[in-house]
Amino acid sequence: MKKIALHWKIIIGLVLGIVWALISSQLGWSQFTIDWIAPFGKIFINLLKLIAVPLVLFSIISGVANLGDPASLGRMGGKTLLAYLLTTVLAVGMGLTMVNLIKPGKLIDEQSRIDNRISYEIWAAEEGYVIKDGINYLQDPEFMDRAREISDLTKSDLQDASMNDKMKAADATKDAGPLQPLVDIVPDNFFSSLADNGLMLQVIFFGLFFGISMLFIDQKKVAPVTKAVDGIMEVFLKMVDFTMQAAPFFVFALLAGVVSQMAGNDIGKVVEIFKGLSWYSLTVFGGLALMIFVIYPLVFKIFVRKVSYFGFFRAMGPAQTLAFSTSSSAATLPVTMECVEDNLGVDKKVTSFVLPIGATVNMDGTCLYQAVAVVFLAQLHMIDLTLGQQLTIVLTATLASIGSAAVPSAGLVMLIIVLESVGLNPAWIGIIFPVDRILDMCRTVVNVTGDATVSSVIAKGEGLFNYNPNKAPDEAFDIE
Ligand code: ASP
Repeated sequence: MKKIALHWKIIIGLVLGIVWALISSQLGWSQFTIDWIAPFGKIFINLLKLIAVPLVLFSIISGVANLGDPASLGRMGGKTLLAYLLTTVLAVGMGLTMVNLIKPGKLIDEQSRIDNRISYEIWAAEEGYVIKDGINYLQDPEFMDRAREISDLTKSDLQDASMNDKMKAADATKDAGPLQPLVDIVPDNFFSSLADNGLMLQVIFFGLFFGISMLFIDQKKVAPVTKAVDGIMEVFLKMVDFTMQAAPFFVFALLAGVVSQMAGNDIGKVVEIFKGLSWYSLTVFGGLALMIFVIYPLVFKIFVRKVSYFGFFRAMGPAQTLAFSTSSSAATLPVTMECVEDNLGVDKKVTSFVLPIGATVNMDGTCLYQAVAVVFLAQLHMIDLTLGQQLTIVLTATLASIGSAAVPSAGLVMLIIVLESVGLNPAWIGIIFPVDRILDMCRTVVNVTGDATVSSVIAKGEGLFNYNPNKAPDEAFDIE
């Protein structure tokens, strides 16, 4: 019998998970699913994250130590950052183009948009923003009553505890000084960076520092360290392989849990939520699909060649399906590394630091989504953003995606900053919150695919790209 490829098994697990959640919701078993099935999904994410941090550390040290000379590291580092920046700006541009063409916010009925506009004006007046083209509704008592009703509604969204946490997290980011991101990269205690999953950049910094220092030590003296680091890295990679054997089952549990949380015992609720936000969601899906199915393959064709259109997806399938299931580039990172190294044939010297940095700072899907979301929310409130404001979005969405952690919903939190940068109400994230999880799943696939594409381009430029089209992609996860 022909073996089914791992990514297909994961997709089957994923679909069965959704079907299970829908059936259990119909039968009123959602709580059972949440109590008895969903925890296995959590175990899966924990396992992947457990491996990700030490794997990144040892793979960076090993990658740099085996590089031979620090100059090539500097050259590759420069190219990597430039490529990440370019793809990010390209993605924001794509998002803005899509949302300005489709105008999803203007497809909502006129009366609710007028109501929205009024509540915005009240908020803007309270915040001290000047609205140039607006009518001054504040003079009109009838409008004022309606506005109060609407703004109470917005406030009740904010009473949702998880929303409050999100707002607080964004506030903390906003209040920091301009050089704070740089300061945050350098840890004062390396063990606390390891202990906190969100501090991947600190782990990368330490790994680079350690690896570079090894290059400056007499090779005879440092050889045992290099050997040990290489060996430890192999062990972590084997742990990934073991975890991946059970991935289809874990993904089933993960999706059953996520969908059950959303649907509760009433599927109709999910359908209702999607109806109002369907054009917005479709615009985001469309932009993300263009990135995955057109832009990245095109970049591959131009800069890397060698790999066929479907060959690319076969190679990256396990990482892409996992990114979709987990909504976290950080949790997917160990699998992305194996796919890019073993299936695409990118040398470890490149993947070891290009991919961890990418998972942390390069989020093309996230910034595309942020651009669409901000303009959609403006359209929904009858606000036409000027060219200057749209350029501000390019800048802030780029920075916000760099600053987003590689975990579920991080992009939504950082959206607050993009909204504020163009004078819009950050509480509006409450409007798109209900559909965010599914969009998050899709944008994470783009984030991961973008990292893989850039690392292949860098490897090609360095002569470190050795793709073998005849290799079966699943060999990467064999445990023998
Ligand atoms: N979940 C995304 C990621 O891990 C980040 C986001 O929320 O957009 O890549």
